[in-house]
Amino acid sequence: MFHTGLRSGTAVRTEEQADEAELYFQRCRWCRNTTFQRLLCPTCGSTDLVPELSEGEGVISVRRGTTAAEADLWPVHMAEGFVVRCRVDGPLHAVRPGVRVKLAGAGSSGRRPVVRLCEEVPLDGWI
Ligand SMILES: [Zn+2]
Repeated sequence: MFHTGLRSGTAVRTEEQADEAELYFQRCRWCRNTTFQRLLCPTCGSTDLVPELSEGEGVISVRRGTTAAEADLWPVHMAEGFVVRCRVDGPLHAVRPGVRVKLAGAGSSGRRPVVRLCEEVPLDGWI
């Protein structure tokens, strides 16, 4: 399958490339705070937000009021300081606040970013 006509340079990617896990966040040019998919800086109200590429590492944060449809969605506190709701790919009993995760897939075309647990999770102790 060839993509012709639309290619400009090497920046063109297909949306289904799951191994290209890139997550962009925004850093306020004024107060240097980080945020995610906002129009205004939540701290100072500036619209001067500059996109930056995340390292993709974070820690699962506490969530509240989750519906069954969102059972695998958790707020993840990324190393850069912003929080983004991600789909966590891992054994349910191991997914809890405080667990370190790493970006596994970017949330393109309206989907949530996907993260994986950093540590290998032992499955024993549950028998
Ligand atoms: Zn700001």
